[in-house]
Amino acid sequence: MIRLEHVSKTYEAGVQAVTDVSLHIAPGEFVFIVGDSGSGKSTLIKLLLKELNPTHGKIIVGGKDLEKINRRQIPRYRRNVGVVFQNFRLLQDRNVYENVAFAMRVIEAPKKDIKRKVPTILSLVGLAAKYRSLPKQLSGGEQQRVAIARALVNEPKILLADEPTGNLDNRNAWEIMKLLDEINQRGTTVVVVTHNMDFVKTMNKRVITIKKGVVVDDQGGEEI
Ligand code: ADP
Ligand code: MG
Repeated sequence: MIRLEHVSKTYEAGVQAVTDVSLHIAPGEFVFIVGDSGSGKSTLIKLLLKELNPTHGKIIVGGKDLEKINRRQIPRYRRNVGVVFQNFRLLQDRNVYENVAFAMRVIEAPKKDIKRKVPTILSLVGLAAKYRSLPKQLSGGEQQRVAIARALVNEPKILLADEPTGNLDNRNAWEIMKLLDEINQRGTTVVVVTHNMDFVKTMNKRVITIKKGVVVDDQGGEEI
């Protein structure tokens, strides 16, 4: 599903953020990526989204070599990769329903599909009752659920989450982790960047540890 072969990324400023990373994430896996601040985790996520191109190496996602995707094809590629961030990134002037529907409107989904799928996905994340609320009327945990619903509404095969619980208290953070686990059990490949070692220890998933841009440990999960 995701394959990195000898991937390195050096930023223009000369900072080498990722160094010779090779890894394989199989369809249906749940993987944590952990590492200190500045170790290159967000850079990896951006490479997978093709927000950045690697300086060296090859990245293959869902059978596609990202190098071969041109600028015009990027939006279509990103439809297959849902993403959530620490700071939710919701549209503040639109309600919950509209925030999720927006992701379908940008890909010009038929209206009847939007009407059918937005309520379904909001139920899945436990927010059916709050579809008319604005982001500022929601708790952090609820806002992250909206972001997850938005990331999933176009049915991507992969969900990437960059510190999704970084702004949440412990209880909400757990709820979000449980939701991500549920989403994985429904078949989506899930990659979660986190600082929170309590979750990592308790959830018993594959854990990829990076240190100064290098994968220093990769444990747990199914052997592939
Ligand atoms: P993490 O998400 O693990 O905290 P990042 O991937 O954000 O780490 O950053 C890895 C390294 O790359 C850090 O040293 C950071 O300062 C540097 N970096 C990140 N973005 C840029 C950029 N746009 N330009 C230059 N250096 C960057
Ligand atoms: Mg980061």
